[in-house]
Amino acid sequence: MLLEFLGAAREVTGSCHYVVVDDVHLLVDCGMEQGPDLYENQELPVNAAEIDYVFVTHAHVDHSGMLPLLYKNGFRGWIYATKATMDLCSIMLRDSAHIQESEAEWKNRKARRAGQPEVTPMYDVSDVQGVMEQFVPCDYEETVEVCNGLRVRFVDAGHLLGSASIEMWLTEEGTERKLVFSGDIGSENRPMIKDPTYLKEADYVIMESTYGSRNHDRASVQTSVKREQAPSSSAVGSNVAEQSSNAAQSSSVAQGGSTVQNGGAEQSGSAVGSSCAEQSGSAVQSGGEAAEAAAYGKRQAAASVEPGFDYAVELAKVINATFSKGGNLVIPAFSVGRTQELLYFIRRIKTEGLLPEYSGFEVYMDSPLAVEATNIFSNNRMECYNEKDLELINQGINPIRFPGLKIAVTSDESRKINTMEHPKVIISASGMCEAGRIRHHLKHNLWRADSTILFVGYQVPGTLGSSLLNGAKTVKIFGEEIEVHADIVRLPGLSAHADRDHLTKWVEAFDKRPQKVFVVHGEEPVAVEFAEHVTQDVGIEAVAPYSGDIYDLISGVCVQNGSHKKAQKKSKATGKDSGRNTVYDRLLAAGERLLAVIRKNKGLPNKDAARFADQITALCDKWDR
Ligand SMILES: [Zn+2]
Repeated sequence: MLLEFLGAAREVTGSCHYVVVDDVHLLVDCGMEQGPDLYENQELPVNAAEIDYVFVTHAHVDHSGMLPLLYKNGFRGWIYATKATMDLCSIMLRDSAHIQESEAEWKNRKARRAGQPEVTPMYDVSDVQGVMEQFVPCDYEETVEVCNGLRVRFVDAGHLLGSASIEMWLTEEGTERKLVFSGDIGSENRPMIKDPTYLKEADYVIMESTYGSRNHDRASVQTSVKREQAPSSSAVGSNVAEQSSNAAQSSSVAQGGSTVQNGGAEQSGSAVGSSCAEQSGSAVQSGGEAAEAAAYGKRQAAASVEPGFDYAVELAKVINATFSKGGNLVIPAFSVGRTQELLYFIRRIKTEGLLPEYSGFEVYMDSPLAVEATNIFSNNRMECYNEKDLELINQGINPIRFPGLKIAVTSDESRKINTMEHPKVIISASGMCEAGRIRHHLKHNLWRADSTILFVGYQVPGTLGSSLLNGAKTVKIFGEEIEVHADIVRLPGLSAHADRDHLTKWVEAFDKRPQKVFVVHGEEPVAVEFAEHVTQDVGIEAVAPYSGDIYDLISGVCVQNGSHKKAQKKSKATGKDSGRNTVYDRLLAAGERLLAVIRKNKGLPNKDAARFADQITALCDKWDR
């Protein structure tokens, strides 16, 4: 009975843990690495075809994004996840595939010009279609007997719609061990989503530590950027921008900047900034979303719910200030999660009459992915929503729908938004303004002094969103120089991640002290510090494993140390394998799968085995020329 750490060990993205019990091989999460990586991840110790099961904690690409590659390489086992995670994976993995395909296309255009060999995408939409067939949707709180010696239970982790912590019971030769994989742990009191579940028993806990070293910023909630105070940089000018008249708590860029830095070191910046921005085409542009989602989940500087702080009230102030000038409020937002939270708060503004002067105002949701994600939020509400919001549903109120909500799916519908003169709210993706339709809305509104651009999430340094927050006077969009006269306002969202105090509360909740806590999914200093904190202050032995560390779960002893090898510079945006994935690699993977299938068929009746052998021999004869 072994546990090996593969990904998100002493770093944040690429979650992947490998477990062996008897002759069963399984993974918990199969995530994509994004942004700068510190350590080289251990390769999968067996062929993809030899993995029997994958258990997915939630749909963010840094937990699910390598599933299509696993499928492409021969995996045909079952993937267990909550239904909402399965639904979100279907749109987020497809989006990720579009990015892979577009990046390969872009590289191949260059390769052809340079006489270089072409590459194939890491995976494509057909691999996503294939892998989606392998999903087995699970209910929260139900124990699932997966196979002999393996049962699991998903409980709500309060991080994203469908997100789960996974309890896993393993039995080998009569000895049982219980593992708890935390997944990403959410914060409390969020719209729609339930609070995280506090579990009571485990022999081993594998827990995230994204915010293991700090608590969320509970101070300022609204920041209006003053361009005259902006730090000097090539993008920053000296023009005085009009300030949002109601930005009572407006503060300088310096404050905004420090809050951004609180969000952590740069993440996915290059990924978001280069491969997507350099390309055109709607697939890529909406596809930027997937790469950014992880950065968003991990890095946003966030406000916590403080007594007296009401997000809907703050948002209403920004809308009011914009409409009173006759302009538009443009909100760059991630399509999955953040957009639905915005709809939730706007529905409250309308139903609670927080904007009496503009009660009929229109809101345009302009992102096909956001439209699909919003439907998934609505379709999974009975299983996933908290009690307070289920109560609304019982009263016939959908928490994320309201009169005046307009949806743009086609590019024509999107273009039309900018021909309408009346003041409106426009929510569009991508969240960091690097790709997607948001760039059209910025082009049409940044130059207008009566419009406002509202940032609700973390902006990776180097992105267009970050430049605007840093007070850029002019920006380039679609090759065109645009002067920035709109108000640039920042209203940090509610965090999707538990902070240090809440992570501590989560691990302290175990009644039966676990034998060991493995701290993963945090930057190296954070994971190490949090492990020390759990050991010293909580009183449970904790370690921050390296990729490649293997533990025997019966004895609790580390039986193999990982290499601690620092990562090489990796390809941007699409993970470590992108760009060097050739058709020949695919053939090799197919060959390895064949061997795995042969091994799995040990004990096959002689007649069938002979037929199988004949077929392989015929295939070899055909190609062995
Ligand atoms: Zn996440």
